[in-house]
Amino acid sequence: MMPTPAQAYLANLIAQYPLPMPQEVRLQELLKEWDIERDEVDTALHNRVTYLLEQLQPALPPPVQALIASGHLVAGEIGNTVPNAHMTPLGDDQFVVVLHSGLFEFLYQIARPLASAVFRMQDAAGPGIDDPEFARVVAEIFWWREVAGEMFGPEYAVTDHQKTLANLLAMRAERFLLAHELGHVSVVLSSPGILDEAEEESVADIAALTWSMLASNLSSNEAKDPMWAMLTYAGAELALQIWNVMSRLNLEFLHGVHPPAMARIDVLRKTLRTFCDSDAMYDTITMAAIVIERAFTQVHQIIDQPEGHAEMFERQAKLLVSDLRRLLEDCSADVTPDYYRFYEAAPRLFARGYPEQVIEEVLMQAVDGMRDTLAKAREGGTFIDINSRAFKQYKLLFGLTEHMPEPARLIFAHYLSLD
Ligand SMILES: [Zn+2]
Repeated sequence: MMPTPAQAYLANLIAQYPLPMPQEVRLQELLKEWDIERDEVDTALHNRVTYLLEQLQPALPPPVQALIASGHLVAGEIGNTVPNAHMTPLGDDQFVVVLHSGLFEFLYQIARPLASAVFRMQDAAGPGIDDPEFARVVAEIFWWREVAGEMFGPEYAVTDHQKTLANLLAMRAERFLLAHELGHVSVVLSSPGILDEAEEESVADIAALTWSMLASNLSSNEAKDPMWAMLTYAGAELALQIWNVMSRLNLEFLHGVHPPAMARIDVLRKTLRTFCDSDAMYDTITMAAIVIERAFTQVHQIIDQPEGHAEMFERQAKLLVSDLRRLLEDCSADVTPDYYRFYEAAPRLFARGYPEQVIEEVLMQAVDGMRDTLAKAREGGTFIDINSRAFKQYKLLFGLTEHMPEPARLIFAHYLSLD
């Protein structure tokens, strides 16, 4: 059968932007999360959006379902690292919804520390991180995106169970954003040109929430357990909370002019309330979303007034810098630098994060020391003192960066460069 214009348009986009293979560490996690073999990854990645669309399909209104069935409405993922989702109408009866692979990765990258912070065995006990730590991890994820344009961040405590919840949350957030784009399609079908931009966004949000919750309710597995309604709803608010942080940091990822995230969340809650028979039911379904909101409130407080937490972060950063310096001193004490010990211990220290302080107070100092050593050699016109502490420490750090994962290797090597 001939592909429809929408199908041809999407196929062309996918050919132009092939999906990237996830980095090895993430790949291993995906194999476990999806319970698949390595040779199945490619297919699973390509079907990610199709799978979400299939979940939503029974909940969609008949005209939208008909468009999907005839191939006049298609949705797919393309290999673009910018977190984004958008809908393109082709004429007035064909639609292409595109989600960027960067959106999946980004949602998951934020959902993971979030799960570590909000899904705890007891309040502030059991494995996990506290809200201020979550805020710092989120801030560093944004820092890496800004300097390297890639997903990266510090390591933190997270259990397998929390990773699974993070994956579910991220998928539900993704599904909500897909449904939101379908909401725009629905607006074009039912009331083209009547709504202004803000009204249309609001209608798309309400439609997206309605379909997401209904899809969960129509699934025989999920209808039995209120946890699914809770996660589905939390995913919707999470998508808007993340968008809120990004827009505050000027990194908006959805096309078009969208109303402020908090106003959108307000609309979601009012809509949800109309679905609930009782306050008790509403309270149960919003439980996870409320805890997520609390964690994001901390993120915003730290963006607004870092002073309150600066002291704690400064203390932790100082401790890290002094640990790194001590390790460098110890490993450069003998004639031959102790590469073995340094490569063994240093990655754990670097993984704690605080990249700006590490660059400023460890890497730049090592570069200065190395420059001094070279300058002395030039002045004396003789030899480079390879026995100097500075020379050995520089070599230890330079060697270490070669073993770092990207984009850390690129960034740290850049700061260690001598030209
Ligand atoms: Zn929109």
